[in-house]
Amino acid sequence: MSVLEKISSKEAIALEEKYGAQNYHPLPVVLSKGEGVHVWDVEGNKYYDFLSAYSAVNQGHCHPKIIDALKSQAENLTLTSRAFYNDMLGKYEKYITEYFGFDKVLPMNTGAEAVETAIKLARKWGYEKKGINANQAKIVVCQNNFHGRTITIISASNDPVATENFGPFTPGIVSIRYNDIYALQEVLEDENVAAFLVEPIQGEAGVYVPDEGYLKQAFDLCKLKNVLFISDEVQTGIARTGRLLASCGNCSCPDKSCSGIPEVKPDILILGKAISGGVFPVSAVLANNDVMEVIRPGNHGSTFGGNPLACAVAMAALDVVKEEKLAENASKLGNLFRSEMEKLIAQTDLVRMVRGKGLLNAIVINDDEDSSTAWDICMALKENGLLAKPTHGNIIRFAPPLVMTQDELLDCVSIINKTIKQFEE
Ligand SMILES: *Cc1c(COP(=O)(O)O)cnc(C)c1O
Repeated sequence: MSVLEKISSKEAIALEEKYGAQNYHPLPVVLSKGEGVHVWDVEGNKYYDFLSAYSAVNQGHCHPKIIDALKSQAENLTLTSRAFYNDMLGKYEKYITEYFGFDKVLPMNTGAEAVETAIKLARKWGYEKKGINANQAKIVVCQNNFHGRTITIISASNDPVATENFGPFTPGIVSIRYNDIYALQEVLEDENVAAFLVEPIQGEAGVYVPDEGYLKQAFDLCKLKNVLFISDEVQTGIARTGRLLASCGNCSCPDKSCSGIPEVKPDILILGKAISGGVFPVSAVLANNDVMEVIRPGNHGSTFGGNPLACAVAMAALDVVKEEKLAENASKLGNLFRSEMEKLIAQTDLVRMVRGKGLLNAIVINDDEDSSTAWDICMALKENGLLAKPTHGNIIRFAPPLVMTQDELLDCVSIINKTIKQFEE
């Protein structure tokens, strides 16, 4: 079979089943085209994308400005490695640090790599700046977190599916309850704690939004105890939750960087996914000089990290976020979406609740955690032209591209309403 030959959905799925490791359980739809908020399958059916590749495609599929940047950079230079300088990296580093208000950036590729980098950075800071005894540093994480898939990161996970038979695990990680400030206070009594690693909203876990004030209190506790506050905004960042960053809490920066006084200013900020608009794997670790300066030549690296193609794509993708006021749009449409879902909930027993911020939302289906209802609803949504995926058991995450219009969102709401009602019959 030639790679250019058209194949049917059935054939494409059969190929993946035969030749690919079975580490995912995709919805049976085979996509071959995307534009803005829409994707098309190989048979030509059109869908609203209500997942956005786990919030990587905030700027919409194949955004022309980002694709132009990709094409023109690809014709000039794609990779030098960091053995040499290139003419894009410095420009990008200036751009992204000013954009988010940090002194320095360490460029990586995937989210997991950026989390690993942040953990390494925090440990080294712990020994060299805080004075923790050799090999005693601890990183505090939260239960039900999702930070990626490497051995060290799953060492911080309590999800048996992600951890079983992958041990032995990396030591030096302490897990506490999310959204429990007293648990944090207690664990921070230990002077060997170097950092607290937290998601401002737990996305994978099922879009758990912590109580108002939790992040700020956690941040203040960290300051008090000389512990680094690491915010993993791989999923919540880049306008997804109605602000440029979710950890900014109540600061007034819907469409500009946090140059004001943010409620929480992480010591280490981790970004990935939408930093490139879903066009290319780009991730970043941002910190100020007092932290980042512990990393010296040879301490850490990545062949592809900071490559010129990634730099060009990320600058275009971050431009789009500001030019198209995506944070404001996510905030406005998110409020509308949740109020429409509340109306639906009032009319049905099938949906228990809706929660989220901006356009990172989830509905909880009124059934057991291990029931197939949420999956079945996603299958029915697909038939009705909308793609979404259950997260944990009975929770369905709704995260469309942020370039959606109000009319499109209302169209999606009516698809969801119709599907849920079909289901009740
Ligand atoms: C997706 C995600 C990651 C991991 O990113 P990858 O690019 O898949 O390695 C890390 N943290 C959070 C919060 C995520 O949502």
